[in-house]
Amino acid sequence: MPKQKPLTIDQIRSEMEYYSKLKPELVDLLALYRSLFEIESGYLEKMEVSVPELDDEKLAVRLKNNMPLLNTGDIGIDSGVFKDMLSDICGVIAKTNESFEESVEDLLKNPDLKESDGKKTPVLIQNALEFRTEYFTDLAKRIPLNNELMFFIIYHTTNPFIEKASYAYRDRIDYEKWQQPVCPVCGRKPSMAMLTDDDGLRILQCSTCKSWWSYPRKQCAICMTKDEDKLEYFYSTDDEAHLVYICNNCKKYIKTTDKRKLDREIDLDVEDLATIELDFIAKDRGYEPGGRVTFAIGPE
Ligand SMILES: [Zn+2]
Ligand SMILES: [Zn+2]
Repeated sequence: MPKQKPLTIDQIRSEMEYYSKLKPELVDLLALYRSLFEIESGYLEKMEVSVPELDDEKLAVRLKNNMPLLNTGDIGIDSGVFKDMLSDICGVIAKTNESFEESVEDLLKNPDLKESDGKKTPVLIQNALEFRTEYFTDLAKRIPLNNELMFFIIYHTTNPFIEKASYAYRDRIDYEKWQQPVCPVCGRKPSMAMLTDDDGLRILQCSTCKSWWSYPRKQCAICMTKDEDKLEYFYSTDDEAHLVYICNNCKKYIKTTDKRKLDREIDLDVEDLATIELDFIAKDRGYEPGGRVTFAIGPE
């Protein structure tokens, strides 16, 4: 399992540029995400979060019992930073479509973003950290704001806080003790996978905190079936570096970059965006994404 070293924002920019040239049809999508990634990476660097203490013994017990290490609702964050970031992300969204302007303004003025008596964290932020989908579906109706857009905004604002919190645990995980289809840190599903060695393992990346973990290649990363008759993969004929692993047991798929075929460092979120045509093919064939995909909007 290679040590996880996130790409710098400059490296991410150059990856996006590379794919914009290679696939001009993705220029607008990549430009939108570039703005979002720039905001997220700026805040990620300066934000501070607190996480509950977990000594080595307790950590080992949790992993042994297949329990993720972090309950995301326990992360302590600065609400002011959350609100600033929410406002910046809403600004990017408002620019994409005039009709969104008023509703994102209403979201930013929502009373659930205010500190209430006796509670440190505003209701909206606590619900976001705990990813309470029913709360946001209801809030979207009340504002009103398109439901998918609501989830898109909340997802992009909240995930960097969970990612920052995950840094406290990543290096402490014994990966041989965790081969679950969910993230060992935050418990969410994988969004993308990567092949790096010929060791029979895949690296999965968490859709939420972006932590990596290893997982057997010949096992479904969603439903865990090991029935080889049910597992297949495909790629488009001119690109063997990007595969889709499909499972006929759960009818889900996960996209996978074969890094051995690319001679450079990659960012799996950019890989996800750059291979959107594979999602269309997989969906056409009747498969659903196994975890949240970077460009997907809407509840899990
Ligand atoms: Zn995670
Ligand atoms: Zn499956």
